[in-house]
Amino acid sequence: MNHSFAADAVLQHRPKDECGVFAVFGHPNAAEITFFGLYALQHRGQESAGIVVANDHERNFKSHHGMGLVSQIFNEHQLAKLPGTRAIGHVRYSTTGSSTLENAQPIVADCSRGQIAVGHNGNLVNAHVLRAELEEQGSIFKTTVDSEVILHLMAKPSNSLGDSSLVQALCKVKGAFSLVLLSEREVIGVRDSLGFRPLCIGKVGDAWLLSSESCAFDIIPGARFVRDVEPGEIVVIDDKGLRSIKPFVSKEKLGFCIFEYVYFARPDSTLEGMNVSAVRTNMGRELARLHPVEADLVIPVPDSGNYAALGYSEESGIPYDHAFVRNHYVGRTFLNPSQLAREFGVKVKLNIIKERVAGKRVVVVDDSIVRGTTARARVMNLRNAGAKEVHIRISCPPHKHPCHYGIDFPDPKDLIANLYSHEEITKYLQADSLGYLDEAGMVRATKKPENSFCMACFNEKYPVAVNPELDKLVFERRRDRADSLVFAEEASPRLFNGKI
Ligand code: AMP
Repeated sequence: MNHSFAADAVLQHRPKDECGVFAVFGHPNAAEITFFGLYALQHRGQESAGIVVANDHERNFKSHHGMGLVSQIFNEHQLAKLPGTRAIGHVRYSTTGSSTLENAQPIVADCSRGQIAVGHNGNLVNAHVLRAELEEQGSIFKTTVDSEVILHLMAKPSNSLGDSSLVQALCKVKGAFSLVLLSEREVIGVRDSLGFRPLCIGKVGDAWLLSSESCAFDIIPGARFVRDVEPGEIVVIDDKGLRSIKPFVSKEKLGFCIFEYVYFARPDSTLEGMNVSAVRTNMGRELARLHPVEADLVIPVPDSGNYAALGYSEESGIPYDHAFVRNHYVGRTFLNPSQLAREFGVKVKLNIIKERVAGKRVVVVDDSIVRGTTARARVMNLRNAGAKEVHIRISCPPHKHPCHYGIDFPDPKDLIANLYSHEEITKYLQADSLGYLDEAGMVRATKKPENSFCMACFNEKYPVAVNPELDKLVFERRRDRADSLVFAEEASPRLFNGKI
């Protein structure tokens, strides 16, 4: 494969999959349980979903995939066509361009040892290189998803059968991966050795469950959380039960994505032993200590700022109120691809109750600022509603760098904190003051040591090396694409250069 083709492959792989995975072993209605699980994990991906099932009576897996929300893709009729006691499922969110049905996961492959299916949360940083090698050796890929590389590596005839083919494949891939795999006899869960993305184990009756987040167990009648899959651990579940394999050298420094606590995971999940809402409340308390202000009200940007605002209010003694009303029938703002659509999304999503803020000094708390669209719109809403002062508080540090391990941020040219100074951003947002939580406070809020986390989107310390040359090409290509969207880009902070 020549260089530009390799770069093209990266471009195709590039869509970083913010995803959710779920698996069931040993339940008569495995597809239905997986459907419930995916329903609870919907926040991790809304573009496509799929379920693959296996049963003892048929050799071939049965599967159904679709674009859109879990509830739109599956119904009773669909689920009835997926009989089986073992299943894996996946919800996916990707960036524009890659949103096709063929890329919906779990991906199924036939190989000499039978069928295998994989669902992946995370992003492999060397998938392009491995894919090029595999294609040179004759592998034919059917998706542009990096996770397919794992299936091809496992299927290679040179690999022996059994667990070792998985271990051998995993030794070659680099980056972030929480995986669920389905083979003809087993369900397998894997977490990369730095533990970038979450994965946990549950039980319902005698059946085993795997899920990206524990909140999925709460909504399945009779299900309970057992434990997290450890970083670097493989759990193999078959008729004999669950066994754990730890084939990789354990790392002193881990790389759990701290942004899962800040924003991505659901507040009712417990990740790595800490409830997410509790961490967010702690972040709000830290924020109040770091950036106090005299004000009359603390209000969250719902839902992402709810718990941090609560913490800010508790710590500062400033009353907490809900002035924004959320329209629950609008998806996440980020899902809209163009800037114009995003701005509409921001407006349609939240309305303000004027009576609650008129004449007041308000502290608005949100989890993060990415492009600045949301925060700017909120300040405008508040000013139009008659707020006397608007102070923005953000429960993580400024986002300045891309994530290479599975969180989809725009490229750095669209990250407002990467472009402008604190003063410029405050001015752009038209806020009276702006305060971000710092790294130390964010880590303290988790009650874990600093070396537990990947915080590369804040500090550029990437725990697994990435290939900047190929990434640069990716960004070049993305820029080309973005520049043609002049209209859509009109409100982007980039165009305010010099004016703010
Ligand atoms: P922005 O309007 O571009 O500054 O986006 C900030 C909002 O997007 C915040 O309110 C966050 O809750 C949310 N957000 C932050 N990161 C992401 C992400 N990677 N995917 C989706 N939403 C995000």
